[in-house]
Amino acid sequence: MAMDYRGDIFRPPSEAHSILLQVTTGCSHNRCTFCDMYSQSPFTIKPEATVMADIAFAALHCRRQSRLFLCDGDALIMPQQRILTTLDRIAEQLPWVERVSIYANARSILRKSEAQLVELREHGLALAYLGLESGDDQTLAAVNKGADARAMIQAGQRLRRAGIKLSVTVLLGLAGRERSLEHARATGAVLTAMDPEYVGALSLMLTPGTPLHDDHRKGSFDPPGPLGLLRELGEMIEHTELSSGYFHANHASNYLPIKARLPEDKEATLELIRKAIKGEVSLKHEASRLF
Ligand code: SF4
Repeated sequence: MAMDYRGDIFRPPSEAHSILLQVTTGCSHNRCTFCDMYSQSPFTIKPEATVMADIAFAALHCRRQSRLFLCDGDALIMPQQRILTTLDRIAEQLPWVERVSIYANARSILRKSEAQLVELREHGLALAYLGLESGDDQTLAAVNKGADARAMIQAGQRLRRAGIKLSVTVLLGLAGRERSLEHARATGAVLTAMDPEYVGALSLMLTPGTPLHDDHRKGSFDPPGPLGLLRELGEMIEHTELSSGYFHANHASNYLPIKARLPEDKEATLELIRKAIKGEVSLKHEASRLF
């Protein structure tokens, strides 16, 4: 006997050692032009009995894992009562779990009132991962993200006011070569307005079968090269003011690993990027970049 997993399971890098509790399958949006994560997996809310059986399994077999991640795509879209029941059962049967986190998107956050988000936090939801990708409205519309910068800011701020920690993912290269710096500046501005605890910057890797990959093949989308991505990263960090947060670009897809605490590491990080652009710091070889 094992936990019930349907389709491919994705989780943020920082949840590598977490109990992965699949409460939904797929992504309720599933229309971003760069993403094929859930293309084979339709969105469903899994039966409550299946989820409860998984928690009972974890109670017996996952006693050394102190974190739990609710997957898939945007599990926050579930009805409030279902999330509360799940959180309560986790607290009851897995009392050693110190942190429960979830994937969320702007729409699923904004469907909840601030009071509902507070209620989720009080029942144990500690952290949400939000895919911003870009703060530039033109880019968000082009990739069919399903939310504009204003909605993203509202969603991020609502979560923060409710006391749920926020981890935001942004995607370097998503605006292509021509709009790269606009994307960087606008994304920095949205991150500043949200003021999350964590920012994770990934570099775009075109996935065959996605509309964006097709655009690239047809010549209508031209992603920046390694140096362009570095300039974009520098511009984004330059325009990001966090009161106290981490800005990481250390995902396997990135050419130059960055782990910065903002605001204190900002200048040193920008200097490192400037040196990398001048060729004084070596970049990761293309073949060793991973999704
Ligand atoms: S919302 Fe996230 S998981 Fe869903 S299609 Fe967009 S990038 Fe993929």
